[in-house]
Amino acid sequence: MCGKCISVCPLINATNREELGPRAKADLCRLLEDDESLLAGEDVAKLAGLCLGCHRCKSVCSQGVDVPGLVATLRAAHPDFKGWLWKTWLTNAKQLWSASSTAAKLIPKQFQPEKLGPFLKMLAGLKGGPGLEPFLTAETFSDTYRGEKMLLFAGCTATHVQGRWLMTALRLLDGLGVEVLPGKFQCCGGGLKSAGFADEAGQLAQENIDVWREAGRPKIVTFCESCLSGLSGYEAFLDDLKEIELWKNSLTPLSNLLQNTSFMVSDNVPENIGYHRPCHVDEVDSDYVFLKNALGEHLTVATEKECCGFGGVMRLGAPGLADEVNLQCWDALSGADMVVSGCSACVAQLSSTHPEGRQVGHWLELIL
Ligand code: SF4
Ligand code: SF4
Repeated sequence: MCGKCISVCPLINATNREELGPRAKADLCRLLEDDESLLAGEDVAKLAGLCLGCHRCKSVCSQGVDVPGLVATLRAAHPDFKGWLWKTWLTNAKQLWSASSTAAKLIPKQFQPEKLGPFLKMLAGLKGGPGLEPFLTAETFSDTYRGEKMLLFAGCTATHVQGRWLMTALRLLDGLGVEVLPGKFQCCGGGLKSAGFADEAGQLAQENIDVWREAGRPKIVTFCESCLSGLSGYEAFLDDLKEIELWKNSLTPLSNLLQNTSFMVSDNVPENIGYHRPCHVDEVDSDYVFLKNALGEHLTVATEKECCGFGGVMRLGAPGLADEVNLQCWDALSGADMVVSGCSACVAQLSSTHPEGRQVGHWLELIL
């Protein structure tokens, strides 16, 4: 009842409705645990749909209350069509992501089936725009990691849709002198877990841990904050505390490796660049540190507590609420001609919702 989570929940910030927030959800879940009949199944399913899964409440709660985890349990107990669609999209349809994203952009709004409208909007954002015109060139690479062997966790979006992110990441690792080990990772499972598909997410976690073990437990480089967050939640599948520590220390944002690499900025740099801070980012936020160093005065605005409103399965279940959250985010980014982020879900969401004339992309797109 301390209320710490109230000030960080993007749903409350956007709507001023405390009943949508983490404390109310935690309270209701506790009551339902004692007596399931207090709410009709339909109402429980509705409640379970109203959470962005941003984990902001969990990160500030002094009592260790895991509201997104409680919501995921409710979602598992009350499956619905949106959950099924989300799961199918994340598990069985990845080969179709690129083509479906292109197709979704072509369907005029008036012909979109009402039930699928939010899904098509999300799809359209996945592929982004034509891509940002790059203006950063690496000049001198740091030697800190030269000769080190690492695995690269590219994530589903870069693997299936945004191949240019993957190619740039590989080029940068090559410049740093890192030897990228072969390893076939699966999806991190974060999206499935928060949608209530714990078994399927656990299976993916186990497969990813096996890839890491077989490679000799090296660093795992990532360039998506959602993937990093999904991978960080694997404790239950690791052998003991020592292995948990090793796993956590192995997870390395690409931007962290680039902190001592110098970049040249060309003349085509936009005057005002905005940075969207993903909800899942840690306190250090190495993407922001890297961008501030590389862009200097051109990085003029950054979000702090504003969520992009992607929200995984909530984007499908309560699109109106997700839109309110999204508008707040764009308000905070006003003045920016171009917005970059280091999370594939945020980039997809901002690409499908940006105001006229703004460009959106992953920060990797800035690099030649
Ligand atoms: S996970 Fe995010 S949206 Fe959901 S209750 Fe917590 S702070 Fe609010
Ligand atoms: S869920 Fe945690 S942060 Fe929120 S009111 Fe309860 S104890 Fe405080």
